[in-house]
Amino acid sequence: MVRHLVIVLGDQLDPGASGFDDFDPDRDAVWMAEVAEESTHVWSSKPRTAVFLAAMRHFAADQRDAGRTVHYAELDGRGADGQANRGSLAAQLAADLKALEPESLIMTEPGEWRVREALVGVADAAGLTLEIREDRHFFCSVAEFAQHAEGRSSLRMEYFYREMRRRHGILMTKRDQPVGGRWNYDVDNRKAFPSQGPGLVPPRATFSPDETTQKVIALVESEFADHPGSLDTFAWPVTRAQALEALDLFIDERLPGFGDAQDAMWPGEPWLWHAHLSSSMNLKLLHPREVVAAAESAYRDRRAPLHAVEGFIRQILGWREYVRGIYWTQMPGYLERNAFEAFEPLPDWYWTGDTPMACLKDAVGTTLENGYAHHIQRLMVTGLYAMLLGVDPREVHAWYLAVYVDAVEWAELPNTLGMSQYADGGLMGSKPYAATGKYIDRMSPYCKTCPFDPAKRVGDDACPFTTLYWDYLVRHEEPLAANHRMSLQVKNLSRIDDDELRAIRDRADAIRRGDVVAPVPG
Ligand code: FAD
Ligand code: SF4
Repeated sequence: MVRHLVIVLGDQLDPGASGFDDFDPDRDAVWMAEVAEESTHVWSSKPRTAVFLAAMRHFAADQRDAGRTVHYAELDGRGADGQANRGSLAAQLAADLKALEPESLIMTEPGEWRVREALVGVADAAGLTLEIREDRHFFCSVAEFAQHAEGRSSLRMEYFYREMRRRHGILMTKRDQPVGGRWNYDVDNRKAFPSQGPGLVPPRATFSPDETTQKVIALVESEFADHPGSLDTFAWPVTRAQALEALDLFIDERLPGFGDAQDAMWPGEPWLWHAHLSSSMNLKLLHPREVVAAAESAYRDRRAPLHAVEGFIRQILGWREYVRGIYWTQMPGYLERNAFEAFEPLPDWYWTGDTPMACLKDAVGTTLENGYAHHIQRLMVTGLYAMLLGVDPREVHAWYLAVYVDAVEWAELPNTLGMSQYADGGLMGSKPYAATGKYIDRMSPYCKTCPFDPAKRVGDDACPFTTLYWDYLVRHEEPLAANHRMSLQVKNLSRIDDDELRAIRDRADAIRRGDVVAPVPG
C-alpha cells in the first residue's frame, strides 16, 4: 500500500525538491512517466526530447539506488498495471492510480500551466488529494513576485533585479550598495567581435552518451524519426555530476570572458562565451543559487571581472526569475495575447534552415543541430524576423518551445511572446526589439557572405529584415508613434517618399508570399 505517491516531472529532477520533504521510503513511492504527448503537443526536436528522457532515466536510477521505490513508465514500456504506455501524463497517471491505489498525491509545483491543470484534473477524477508544494528552486516565489508587481503600471526587469540583489545580498557591499558602485554593466556587455573574430574560445563541456543515454538516443530516433533536429553530436549534461562539471568548467574558463561580447554573433561559432547551463538549471540538475554563488565567488577571489560576473548574475537572478514571475502571474491569458494582430504562418524553413539569408540559415542550423542558439540569435535573428514578418505569436511560441534543449514553458513563453514578439503590447518590454539588417551587420559578419544588402530596403538584393522593418513601422504606425521610445523611429517614415513606401510594401508582401529568392550575383 502506497501512502504518498510523489509525482516527479521531467523538469523536476532534484532529490531535494519540496515534493520529497518527509518522504518515507517504507511507505511512499515516486511516480515518473515518459509520454509521447510531451514530444508531440509541440513538434519537439530530437535533442530536446533526448535531454529530458536521458536525464529522467538517470534520475530514476539514482532514486532507486537511494532506496526509493520508483514507478516509471518508459515511452515504449508499460505502466504500473502492466498495460502499454498510455501516451499522455494525464492518461498514464490515471491508469497508474488505479493500479497503485495511493492514499494521496504530492508534487512540487509544475513548470507549465497545461500540465498543472491536467494533473489536478486526474487527481480530482480519482477522488485523491493532490498536495502541490512550492518550488524552492527559485530565488523568488510566485507570491513574492505578485507582491512586487502589485500596483505597478509596467513591469521592468531592472527594478525587480535590484530588489533581488538587495534581498539576497548578492554583489552587495556591507553598506547595502552594489559592489563597484553600479547596478548594471549592460553597456559594457554589448561589444561586437573584432574583424578577425572571437579568437580562441575555450571548448564547451561535452559528455559522451553513456549506455542509458545511448538507449534514449536510439529510442528517440525510432519513435520520433520525422521530428526536427539531429542527435549526431549529442553531448549535453544529463546528470547532476555532469551539470556540476559543466558549471565548474564555465566558471574557470568562460566566465572571465562572458562580459564583453554577450550580444555578438559569429558564423560557425554557436557556443562562444555563453554558459550553456540553461537546460541543467531548467531540469533542476543545478540550483540557480549554486550557479550564482559560484560566479560571485569567482569575482570575490579575483578570478573574473565585475562586468562579466554582474552580467552573468543579472541573467539568472534578474531575467530568469523575472520571466517566471511574469508567466505565473499572467497565465493562462498570456498565451492568447496578440497585441498587433499578427496572423502570418511561420515559414517552413524555420524547421530546416533552408533559406538564402545567411544569419537565419546559421541561427536555425545551429538550433537544429545542437538544440541551442544563444540569446541574441533567438531574440535578434529568428525572433526579430518572425515579428517583422507578422507571424502569429502562437506559432512562434510553438517553434521556440519545440527546438531548444532548455525549452520549458515558464521560461520560453514570456521570452518569445513578450520580449521577442511584443505580443503582450508592452507588459514585459517598453518597446519592440525592432531593427533593420544593419543591427545584425554591426554585431556579426553574416552580411558579408549574404546575397542581400543590409543597407537596402528596396530592390532585389534588399535585406528582407530591412524591408520588413519599414513595412512593420508603416503597418503599426499608430501604436508605435504613441510609444515615446519608438516615436523617433516612426518619424523617420516621413523621410521616405510615397513611391518608395509603395515599393517597400510590395516587396514585404512578396517576402510574406515566399516569392523572394537570393539575387543572382552580377
Ligand atoms: P547564457 O547567455 O550563458 O546566460 C546564463 C543563464 O542566464 C542562462 O543559462 C539562463 O538560465 C539565464 N538566462 C539568460 N537570459 C535569460 C532570459 N531572457 N530568460 C530566462 N533565463 C535567462 N531560456 C530558457 O531557459 N528556456 C527557454 O525556453 C528560452 N526561450 C527563449 C526564447 C526566446 C525567443 C528568447 C529571446 C530567449 C529565450 N530564453 C530561454 C532565454 C535565453 O536565450 C537562454 O536562457 C540562453 O540563451 C541559454 O543559453 P546559456 O545557458 O548559454 O545562457
Ligand atoms: Fe541577415 Fe540581411 Fe545580413 Fe543577410 S543581409 S545576413 S538577411 S541581416
